[in-house]
Amino acid sequence: MKIELITIGDTENRELKKVIEYLEAEKKSAIANGDEDKANNCWLHLESLDLNILFIRAFNNIKLKNYRQAWYELEQCEIKESYIRENSYKDHIVASRLDFIKSKVSKWQSLYPYCLFFSPGFKVGYYSCSICGHKVRPRSRCEHKKGKVYSGQLCVHEAHDMEVLEVSIVTKPVQKSSVMHDDSSLDFMLLERLSSCLDNAFEDWDVRWTKMKFPIARFSKVSKKDKCPCKSDKIFEVCCMGKKEVEIPHVDFLFSKPLSSDAENIVFPYYNG
Ligand SMILES: [Zn+2]
Ligand SMILES: [Zn+2]
Repeated sequence: MKIELITIGDTENRELKKVIEYLEAEKKSAIANGDEDKANNCWLHLESLDLNILFIRAFNNIKLKNYRQAWYELEQCEIKESYIRENSYKDHIVASRLDFIKSKVSKWQSLYPYCLFFSPGFKVGYYSCSICGHKVRPRSRCEHKKGKVYSGQLCVHEAHDMEVLEVSIVTKPVQKSSVMHDDSSLDFMLLERLSSCLDNAFEDWDVRWTKMKFPIARFSKVSKKDKCPCKSDKIFEVCCMGKKEVEIPHVDFLFSKPLSSDAENIVFPYYNG
């Protein structure tokens, strides 16, 4: 039996739900029978299906302009993908589209306008192994390795007696979910533009960050006290206002399919004079 898993409709397919239920039951019985390899293999297939479903949901949410929700899902994909890869083998990595998802998740993330995040600093009393409960100390470790799967269960180190020390603001967060911005004040044009050209999450595309020059007349609606369109963070008056041309960041999207001709136009966010 082959199940398509490409669109959001596919993620709600009854056949897919049956496969997931079957794998969960198989995993449970393998654990009960002490069949570690089988339990781990069931874990691998369940997690990979879940990753594909999450990735499709993230894509769907970008299309629906639920950008923050998609951001959370992309981060979950990133974490899940690394655990699956750690416990996987070559053929499975290919079959479950791990490379594609990994590369596209980071490209989608790069198109977000988010740049500031909260970062809480914690003091942790101690960590314990999620498999055997052993209290992990520098000179006392159990046989389980963090990020590895044992009898169908992922080993993580659980933090106990946590205390928040301070919350700082950072640009490169450990947890990407702690976005500081209010989405309504941000420009999601790149995500909107790209997603409008794609029909599903698994169509191939790429992005190139370049620069493009425009004559100064095209910036006549930019006020002299506005930030300069060249993104130098200086105000227009002291930056590029006196130049003949302004060089601004430009993003090219590359697709593996031909686009309708109106989709090939350049979007110019300033005054088209
Ligand atoms: Zn352990
Ligand atoms: Zn400038």
